[in-house]
Amino acid sequence: MADKHVKAIERLQAEECVKNLRKHNFDADFFETGAEAAAWLKEHIPAGSTVGIGGSMTLSELGITDWLTGNPDYKFLDRYHTDDVQKVFRESFFADVYLMSSNAVTLDGCLYNVDANGNRVAALIYGPKKVYVICGVNKIVPTLDDAITRVQQIAAPANNVRLQRPNPCTEFGHCVKCVKDSSICNQFVITRRSGRQGRIHVLLVNEELGY
Ligand code: SF4
Repeated sequence: MADKHVKAIERLQAEECVKNLRKHNFDADFFETGAEAAAWLKEHIPAGSTVGIGGSMTLSELGITDWLTGNPDYKFLDRYHTDDVQKVFRESFFADVYLMSSNAVTLDGCLYNVDANGNRVAALIYGPKKVYVICGVNKIVPTLDDAITRVQQIAAPANNVRLQRPNPCTEFGHCVKCVKDSSICNQFVITRRSGRQGRIHVLLVNEELGY
C-alpha cells in the first residue's frame, strides 16, 4: 500500500483527472477507497436493471462481481456462469448498465483500452444505456503514449499470465507485439469523450486496483 505522502500526490492527480474527464463529457467522481466506490455503485444501479460486465480484476477485487452473481434484485448477464458466453456478450449491448475498468486513464481525461474479443470496448463505445468505469489510481498515466506503454509493460502481460495464454509476453515480461492467434491484443480503443453527456461515468479510486 502507498504511504500517506504518495497517496496525497495520487489524490491530487486523480482530482485533476476527474476535472479533465468532466471536460470531455464524462461523468466522473473521486473516491478515497474502493469500499466507498463499491457502496456508491450499489446505491446507484437501479433495482431491476439488466447489468453486463467486462472482464475486470478491479470489479472482482471490489466484490462487485460476487455481489451481482445470483442477486435477485438485478438481471445479471453472467459471463462467468454460462454455456454460451458469446450470447451473453451480445445481450450485454442491450444492458441498462455496463460495468468495466479501463486499462489506462490519461491525466487529461481519455480512456485507453486493449481488448481480445472486443466485446468490452464495443459496449463502452455503444449499446448499454449507462457505462460505469471503475479505476484505481494505478491506471492514471500522463499521456496516451504512456497508456500504450502501460498496457504493453503491465496490463496485457499480466492478463496473459492470468488467462494462461501461451504468448511471448509471459516469457519476456513485456509485450513483443506478437501476431499469434492466442494474442489478447486485438482491439486498441481511445475514448476521448463520452459522445452522450454522462453516458460513461468514471469512478476513480485512490487505491491500487486491478492491472
Ligand atoms: S501483443 Fe502478444 S506479446 Fe504483446 S502483450 Fe499482447 S499477447 Fe502479449
